[in-house]
Amino acid sequence: MDDRDSELKKTGIKYFCGFPAKEITSYKIGGCIECLAFPKNKRETTHLLKFGEKKKIPVFILGAFTNVLISDLGLRGMVVSLRRMNKVRINGTIVFAQAGALLDNVIKKAVAKGLAGMEKMSGIPGSVGGAIFMNAGAFGQETFDMLDKVNVMDFKGVEFSLAKRDIEYSYRKTKGLEKLVILSATFKLKKGAKKEILTARKEILKKRARTQPLEYPSAGSVFKRPKGGYASKLIEDCGLKGVKCGDAQISPKHSGFIVNTGKACAEDVYYLIQKAQDLVKRKTGICLELEQILLGNFGRRNERGI
Ligand SMILES: Cc1cc2nc3c(=O)[nH]c(=O)nc-3n(C[C@H](O)[C@H](O)[C@H](O)COP(=O)(O)OP(=O)(O)OC[C@H]3O[C@@H](n4cnc5c(N)ncnc54)[C@H](O)[C@@H]3O)c2cc1C
Repeated sequence: MDDRDSELKKTGIKYFCGFPAKEITSYKIGGCIECLAFPKNKRETTHLLKFGEKKKIPVFILGAFTNVLISDLGLRGMVVSLRRMNKVRINGTIVFAQAGALLDNVIKKAVAKGLAGMEKMSGIPGSVGGAIFMNAGAFGQETFDMLDKVNVMDFKGVEFSLAKRDIEYSYRKTKGLEKLVILSATFKLKKGAKKEILTARKEILKKRARTQPLEYPSAGSVFKRPKGGYASKLIEDCGLKGVKCGDAQISPKHSGFIVNTGKACAEDVYYLIQKAQDLVKRKTGICLELEQILLGNFGRRNERGI
């Protein structure tokens, strides 16, 4: 990406060529990202999108990299992470957050003002953009519950607003946001009893630490919750709890997580994903749907028979 490199250099936008994904993903896994850019505002974001289009290179929009598994072979193209666009403002019960703000930081600020409605999502480590795209949630609360509107930009740099009703959403899924960059969002929360909301947040954070393998790198739950059950229970019932492939392991603490216990590679994780899907399907007929997003090429192990 040499000629593109020098062209980007002139813009002053913060970017890296050949950035090791394992240094930025929550899994601490992944090969080199051809180009990784961190725009600080809308102007720089537009510039990057137009640059990608002009050079015909694939552009991936990411936030905090906490729900992705990037291939060991790396990722060709340009990854644009909005994490530097992270302002948060609270006015009464209205919370405005830029897409790169960490969801947990937004929740912390809202809770400190005695605002309720998002506190059960405390501890989700992603950005607001990622939380909206995934409709992230926990303990009965989802990002879309309190969402009012989203400010987005298309890949040509045209900016517009979408009200919640304009977006199709369901459990850990949204439709129609794939070709858009989420720039910011507004949430309408409820005034509540500050002490109670604070206690609820603290309890949730404690519960997460008790039940989730937060001591190891991961990307949270690997699979979506299937109808009428829990992925972790199905995986455990297949005898896969604690099973390892290289340094990747189906967590002995929570079978819904795959953790990186050392130097796991993406293929190790991918192998365990397939193993769990295969065994659960054979034993119960249930197809475990991935919640995590795979970026790049996978399946080398199968091709090479290793
Ligand atoms: C320890 C741990 C616990 C977790 N617990 C939970 C949990 O309880 N509940 C839950 O739902 N998730 C959980 N997760 C998963 C993850 O944190 C969420 O899915 C989070 O919302 C992802 O946000 P992100 O910014 O990291 O997104 P990324 O991983 O960077 O991206 C995820 C997807 O969102 C899209 N995206 C990101 N930002 C934008 C944007 N600005 N515009 C357009 N698209 C965008 C990307 O294209 C990608 O498809 C957990 C992860 C970890 C590591």
